[in-house]
Amino acid sequence: MAKRITIAIAGNPNSGKTTIFNNLTGARQRVGNWAGVTVEKKEGVATYNGYTIQVVDLPGTYSLTAYSLEEIIARNYVIEQKPDLVVDVIDASNLERNLYLATQLIDLGVKLVFALNMMDVAQSRGLVIDHEKLSLLMGVPFVPTVGSKNQGTRDLLNTVSQVAEDRESVSRHIHIDYGLELEREIEKFERLFLTSLSFPDEHQSRWMGIKLLENDEEVIKQVENTPLKEEVLDQLGKSKAHLCKILGEDSETLMADRRYGFIRGALKETLRQTRRDRRYLSDQVDTVLTNRLLGFPIFIFFIWAMFQLTFSVGQYPMDWIDEGVGLLSRFIGDQMKEGLLRDLIVAGVIRGVGGVAVFLPNIFILFFCIALFEDTGYMARAAFIMDKVMHTLGLHGKSFIPMIMGFGCNVPAIMATRVLESRRDRILTILINPLISCSARLPVYVLIAGALFGAYAGNVIFSLYIVGIALAILMGQLFKRTLFRGEIAPFVMELPPYRMPTLKGTLIHMWERGSIFVKKMGGVILVGSILVWALSSFPQTVNYSRDYDEEERKVKAQYAIERTNLIQKGQAEKANLLTEGMNRKIAELEAFRKDEFQENSLLGRLGKVIAPILRPVGFDWKGGVALLTGFVAKEIVVSTFGILFQVGEGEGEESESLRTAIRKTMTPLVGYGFMVFVLVYTPCLATVAAIRRETGSWRWTAFSIGYSLTLAWILAFIIYQGGSLLGLG
Ligand code: GDP
Ligand code: MG
Repeated sequence: MAKRITIAIAGNPNSGKTTIFNNLTGARQRVGNWAGVTVEKKEGVATYNGYTIQVVDLPGTYSLTAYSLEEIIARNYVIEQKPDLVVDVIDASNLERNLYLATQLIDLGVKLVFALNMMDVAQSRGLVIDHEKLSLLMGVPFVPTVGSKNQGTRDLLNTVSQVAEDRESVSRHIHIDYGLELEREIEKFERLFLTSLSFPDEHQSRWMGIKLLENDEEVIKQVENTPLKEEVLDQLGKSKAHLCKILGEDSETLMADRRYGFIRGALKETLRQTRRDRRYLSDQVDTVLTNRLLGFPIFIFFIWAMFQLTFSVGQYPMDWIDEGVGLLSRFIGDQMKEGLLRDLIVAGVIRGVGGVAVFLPNIFILFFCIALFEDTGYMARAAFIMDKVMHTLGLHGKSFIPMIMGFGCNVPAIMATRVLESRRDRILTILINPLISCSARLPVYVLIAGALFGAYAGNVIFSLYIVGIALAILMGQLFKRTLFRGEIAPFVMELPPYRMPTLKGTLIHMWERGSIFVKKMGGVILVGSILVWALSSFPQTVNYSRDYDEEERKVKAQYAIERTNLIQKGQAEKANLLTEGMNRKIAELEAFRKDEFQENSLLGRLGKVIAPILRPVGFDWKGGVALLTGFVAKEIVVSTFGILFQVGEGEGEESESLRTAIRKTMTPLVGYGFMVFVLVYTPCLATVAAIRRETGSWRWTAFSIGYSLTLAWILAFIIYQGGSLLGLG
């Protein structure tokens, strides 16, 4: 008979949780809503020996205090959903740090299995772990695994089933001993809780006592809703004062010290290092990569190389997709009867969505590079390097983590500001985050820089990212000095060991994020394209300023006469030249007609309304309209250009003709100003929604939109007017 078990996978970030989760369930991690933040729980099913095991991958945490969103999610899941068992994935190469979370799970009193992962790394560092003894000491079975090679998975499943059925002999609940003084205080709370009917459980009341001494906000809140409130808070004040007096430290620090004491004690008997005093490769690499002088230039170099790669390698698949889109639009165009429907599909959907699809390779390459940075451990160094930079500028170093995430997408980055403790830091970080250029803006850069800057496109795009970072820092400075005065709290930046990434892992990470763009194409970009097409196609009847039909008829008639003349004189070659001339003339007339049609369309009229605002920065109404549609999502800027510049229908590559059209309407100076505008103004509706949600205030949301629009305009103005003055136009 099948038995059902629910297990949750906990562990430090980068300990290999997701890898183990994939090994157990055989399924890939389900893609969350937003890149970067693991706030969604991922679920899968494993079957083993008659068991059906429901597996949940919790967010990675170093601890279970109520500081960050991840910690609260992980902890509430364990407490409220009560999984049958928790598998804590522990990085064997960094035991001391990883066991901290383990001690908190032990306190919680849940059934546990420890997956001792990264055994290969531990071994290569000469660490010898007596995991059997460790199991006995801690009352929890340790199962050695190498997640990336799928080793130990069956052992893990077997141990899970044993523990779930209470058949595992080493399993027992231990109390971590916090020392005489602390234990005495914990006991006071325990007694208080046990006398009240609302906390009948012994584990829970001890746990709540521990958490109170750790200043846990959630538990304090929980207590505040009970009749015990006064008594408990009173006791808490007394206990803390007492501990501070006799031990000279805050109770929270004392608890942490004790936990580490426990861990060191356990490891003393069970962990040996065979090669002493050997500096790890990681450390050696770090002396260079995080070097005070070299670190920053190297970081900038990596980012530069990333964009060069994105642009140069991306060119090939981009051309293929481009060709495919062209073929498709011609094929469908030939199949369908002329009319609005054909227009909608060919000019609206294929041109709009296809125009963005062309840039998917670039986006995927960018995400591949970001995944590589993360998987090797370099991303943490980047945060570390920038942390120092941020500190010298008077900004909170922790704020740079959401900023790095902003390179992928601003939405999860803004959500990630929840890890910041003070509301002021949070709002400040939220305000500057959209200046970090997310990958949705990349298609705009690739299109415009590709059209206007040729071989320098990669460098130009790189410069935009740098401008974004610089602006974020500057605005951060400005806001900090004006809107948010105050001190910053110190924060330790983690430096996890470097790791050789696996191709599969990196590809999965790339796909997790990149696939969001594929989905977006079928959603907001499709809808946006159709809307832009509709606005640019109506009204259908126009009072043209010239009679194009008549003029075309005249050109043709004139030509017919001349051609007959030439042929009679036996000058067939000249007649052919004439044909070319005529075609050019007619194309010209058609272009005028199309322009007039578009200017008369709803979109054109809208463009005319905003044109005066954009004239000083050098954009025409088409650019203005593209920016307007870009409020919904940045990729739609590209779709809009695709729809508005329907030149060279049916001939050559789609994006080549689009680029040609852009070269005709923008100088490099205007183009650069345009890209800076796209970089700086409000990224997209989803970001606005995220800002509203995370600040909880319409005023800050309005401020964010307002200041970014103003800043965008001012910068574009400076670029255009300044550049023109310098004769760069
Ligand atoms: P999570 O953040 O805890 O979900 O960690 P992941 O599962 O994403 O793993 C982080 C990185 O460690 C990935 O590149 C994995 O391929 C790698 N990894 C996972 N387990 C092992 C292991 O046992 N040994 C080694 N060398 N690498 C591993
Ligand atoms: Mg993970």
